[in-house]
Order: sequence, then structure tokens, then C-alpha cells
Amino acid sequence: AVEVEAIKTTESMLTNLDLETVSVLDFDKGDPTMYEAYWKSIGEDFEITISASQALSYFANPKSFCWFMLPKLEQEIRNLHNLVGNAVVEGRHIAVGNGSSQLIQAALYALAEPLDPPSPISVVSAAPFYSCYPQIADYVRSGLFKWAGDAHAYVKDTPYIEMVTSPNNPDGELRGPVVNKANGMLVHDLAYYWPQYTAITEPVDHDIMLFTVSKCTGHAGSRIGWAIVKDPDVAKRMVKFMEISTIGVSKEAQLRAISILEMISTNSCPSNFFEFGQSVMAERWKKLREALKGTDVLQVPDFPPQHCNFKRDYNECHPAYAWMKAQEGLNLEEVMKEESIRVRGGGTFGCPSNYARLSMLGRDKDVDLLLKRLPSILKRLAH
Ligand code: PMP
Repeated sequence: AVEVEAIKTTESMLTNLDLETVSVLDFDKGDPTMYEAYWKSIGEDFEITISASQALSYFANPKSFCWFMLPKLEQEIRNLHNLVGNAVVEGRHIAVGNGSSQLIQAALYALAEPLDPPSPISVVSAAPFYSCYPQIADYVRSGLFKWAGDAHAYVKDTPYIEMVTSPNNPDGELRGPVVNKANGMLVHDLAYYWPQYTAITEPVDHDIMLFTVSKCTGHAGSRIGWAIVKDPDVAKRMVKFMEISTIGVSKEAQLRAISILEMISTNSCPSNFFEFGQSVMAERWKKLREALKGTDVLQVPDFPPQHCNFKRDYNECHPAYAWMKAQEGLNLEEVMKEESIRVRGGGTFGCPSNYARLSMLGRDKDVDLLLKRLPSILKRLAH
């Protein structure tokens, strides 16, 4: 909903502006269009065609608990994790969802439902938290769970669900849970635990782990995410949720994801996918840091290099977002808007408004324009 609102606002801003002199640059949404350049370079060799007679059925694998998931997709997901070394898949249950957004809802349902709670279970996440968690938890006013804010402030003794995002959206930190009470249930959202954004320090092995092609390969429009789950009953309840809400996941999207994941795992593309991602992100972060050098009116976090098991070397971290901090009391989103740059203000992440998130996932041409406008933003912030 935030994304759609942002599109509408951008559209209305665009109509109000003299397009010839200044265009509004959208760095608000995490739309991964930076990957377009890579997939364009791959050309037509890897196009998939789907005939009218193919994939008609609701079913993909009636023998599996996740009966709407194509077996080849499950295999490609396992292959990719084994190649990258970012998650344990051996002996784990894998379920596909309509993006990881649907899997977040499915996980909240699957964890809360068996408790039959007298009042909704608290859903928390440490601030700054991913701005969609509050909406996802509260949108349908469920009797099972409700958003309860910053995990640092959670003091109750009743059962709770903590969303752990690592690397975190918006600040790029590698994170663990912060509440750490015995009656807590954890959902690990690992959308950005890929080598283009961070060092892969270990294959993680948590109860519920969520991934998505949106941020891994850039195919956000395919709406394919997956969950890796330890407990078979939790996995079954997640699948039940998806059965009730959408009767599964598009086979066309699954077929496309299969072809793309296979291409990456077998490195059958003309150039290595993760090397492309790493070099684009590294270049953008370098330019941004250079532009902010010598000023403290706008700060972005530093990340010490960590050993990346995938790269077999020390890796600088280049998060998908720059979590920017301006002087206390300033409204950074508003200041950026005055320079026709849309960013997402700190408030939506549970933080003060002198913070804002800048997406690093857009197209090169927009990043270049942003860098050109930065000096006048810095001037504005210094006054
Ligand atoms: N989790 C996090 C942390 C995200 O940043 C996003 C996308 N912005 C999602 C989940 C949802 O991704 P999708 O539904 O496209 O898989």
C-alpha cells in the first residue's frame, strides 16, 4: 500500500512540475530496476515461452505438502542456497509464496493460530524496522496477531512474534533477535542476505527463513518468494494460509523463476550474476560516500569488511538502502522533496524524521542525477 501511495504521489507531483526543468527522482521504493541492465545483456537466449496448453492445473505436486509448488522450483531454490552458502536447506521444508510479502502473513498466521490467543499476539521488530511490517500485521485487523511496535520496547510476558530482518531494511545491519524471551517466536526475513549486499558469513539455520527473487535477482514483478521452515506443522499451516488466500502461486511465475535461478546456479550466463550485483552496488556506495565526504550534515552508516564465504574473501557491505541521518529536528524527507528527490522518512521505520531511507536499487541514470543534486541538498541541510 505504501508503494502504491508513493506511485500516486509521485504521479501527482510530476503533473505539478515543469518536467523540462526538474524531474522528481523516486528513491523511495525499493524497486530493483538496477538489475534490468544485467538481464538486458543476457538478451533473448534465456527467454521462456509458455504454451496455452501448459500449466493449467491448480496443482503442481499433489504428493508434496506445498502442492502448488513445481518440484523443479524447489530443486533450484535448494541448489542456489547450496551454491551461495547463505542458508541451511538440508532436511528443511520449502514453500513458495506470492512474494515474501504473502509469506510474512502466512508465517504470522501459522505461528499464532495454534495458540488460539484470547487477544491478538504482539508482532514486534527492532527499530528501524521494515516499514511494511506494521501494515501487514494490522491491515485485516486479525484476531490472531497485531503490530506492537519497536522490539526494544517490548516488556510483556505474553507470547510474541519478532520479525528479524538481516541484513536489515532500512539500515543494512546484520541482526539477531532483541527481545530474547522464552515465549518468543521468530521469523527471519532474509530478503537481502545475498552477496551483492553483504558478506555471507554463515549458512543461517533458523525456524522460519524468508527469501525472495525480488531482491535476489531483481524479478520483483514475478512475485516469487520462498520460506525455509524447520517444523513441518508450521510449514503446513503456512501452505494452508496460501491455499485460502490465493489457492497457490502462478505457474508462469514459477517457470520463469526456475529458468532464472538455474541460470544463476549453473553460471550459464555470459557474465557472473553476483559479480555484476556486487560491482554495481560497490560503485554506487563509493560515489555516494565520495559525495558525502567532509560533511556531517548528512551521514550514512559505515560497515567494516567481513569475511564472505561465497566470495572467499573480505567483502565490503553495500546495502540495498542508504539509511541517512541529518541533524536532529530536521525533516529529511521534506528537505529532499524540496530538491525533487523522494525518499522514505524515518517515521515509517519507527524512527525520528531526521532519518530517511534512500533506495540504492534503481537505475544508473537516476543515481547519476541524484549525485548531481546532492551538493545543493547538502547546502540546504547546512543552513
Ligand atoms: N521483506 C523485506 C525486508 C523487504 O524489503 C521486502 C521488499 N521491499 C519484502 C520483504 C517483500 O518482498 P516481496 O514481496 O517482493 O518478495
